Amino acid sequence: MSAERKRFEQAEERLRIYTRDHGICQACGETVPMDWFEVAHRIANTASNRKRYGDRVIDHPLNKATTHPGRCNSAMNCGFKPNECERIVEAVKAARIEAAIYRLEEAIDGD
Ligand SMILES: [Zn+2]
Repeated sequence: MSAERKRFEQAEERLRIYTRDHGICQACGETVPMDWFEVAHRIANTASNRKRYGDRVIDHPLNKATTHPGRCNSAMNCGFKPNECERIVEAVKAARIEAAIYRLEEAIDGD
């Protein structure tokens, strides 16, 4: 994938997450201006988490949330809340299964 294409997809994903979260900071519950939001990882984007949970979990939109920069972004880190981390892992699994079923149905309908 070209660097330009990758930047475009990252920008697109940021906006999808912002839209999904209705422009609300998922840490403090206040609105975040569109030109000032960050996308925070819930399970932090670290080498050890990538090893433990896998890239598919770390990079999944369900592991990301709209926040204000700074303190709100840090507050999304669920590193000290194992139940919350487990919930995210399960949600990503369910979403991936759902997507696989959808693709299968599309393939069958395509016949
Ligand atoms: Zn906030």
